[in-house]
Amino acid sequence: MDDWARTPFVPRKLGQSPVNGCVLFTGRKRLAPPSSRRQWPEEVFLRSMPYAMVLLAGLGCSVLPTRPLSLPSRYTLVREPLVVYSDFPVDAHHRLLDELVARRTDIGKTLGLPSSAERAYIYLFESTERFKRFMRLHHPEMPSRRAFFLETDTRLLVYAQWGDRVAEDLRHEATHAYMHAIVPNLPLWLDEGLAEYFEVPRGRAGLNRENLAAVLARIEEGTWTPDLRRLEQLHPDEQMSHDEYAESWAWVHFLLHSGVESQDLLRVYLADLCRDATTAPVSQRLDLLLPSPNEAVVSHVGQLGAVRRPAARAVSSATCPKMSVPDGTPTGKTAFTRQPGFTPG
Ligand SMILES: [Zn+2]
Repeated sequence: MDDWARTPFVPRKLGQSPVNGCVLFTGRKRLAPPSSRRQWPEEVFLRSMPYAMVLLAGLGCSVLPTRPLSLPSRYTLVREPLVVYSDFPVDAHHRLLDELVARRTDIGKTLGLPSSAERAYIYLFESTERFKRFMRLHHPEMPSRRAFFLETDTRLLVYAQWGDRVAEDLRHEATHAYMHAIVPNLPLWLDEGLAEYFEVPRGRAGLNRENLAAVLARIEEGTWTPDLRRLEQLHPDEQMSHDEYAESWAWVHFLLHSGVESQDLLRVYLADLCRDATTAPVSQRLDLLLPSPNEAVVSHVGQLGAVRRPAARAVSSATCPKMSVPDGTPTGKTAFTRQPGFTPG
């Protein structure tokens, strides 16, 4: 047995997204480039999983398993670069799968990155209870979340439960998978900021309404002081707060939508990061581009809010009120009062 499989160690928690139910854990070898990943038998992976993985997301467990629990495997659906395992049939041309596949191209075009042929393996649990019992059995150390992404030395994996929020969850976690397949050493803030950006349905230009509402509320309170350097200094073992997730999304949206120069800045940074993990961070590059990046991002978010408010009023008064409800976003819930899909027992 390889050292990777037998040597115990404590997974390092990198971050947590209360919005998406995403927690980032990593074991050693997380920084190994994708090309170095070896193929491992699934059973070896399962035994070793708590100790050697990058894990983004969460779990919840409140019911003791009543039968042996394994990963969903009855049905296998291949939609390159995705392989979907489930214990219930999933339409090969389900609109969500179409969107997830297309999202890889979206990410590549938006960020100027090449597409990776590396597959991502999605395990879809048919119910919350099944998901909870599986996680209780295999990951009792994990917090309560709806879905998660994990990166082993050999594979990019997503676990998710089929439900009202599955589209949002899969878009978020698939973004992690696509990014990790291409860019090594992605900083935590950017990893999560991009996932928050690309978790919204296509056609919305990354406008994450929950994060926007959260940041706008802080601006109105006069308490929002963006600080990209501080985000960049977050230790991989730290958990990101709600505010840090919202700020990470705001910086990503600002970089991608405030001008060609800032979008190119992010693209060049990611390209440099692929070659050099110690390349100059985004904050240093922004200081060379703008006199006051912090003021610029506050202004950018404020403009988003100014545009959003009248549009929301117009939609809510229209004849189709359902259009005012984001896909997968339950009505009557705000950004940071939303609870995880389940809670620990
Ligand atoms: Zn995430």
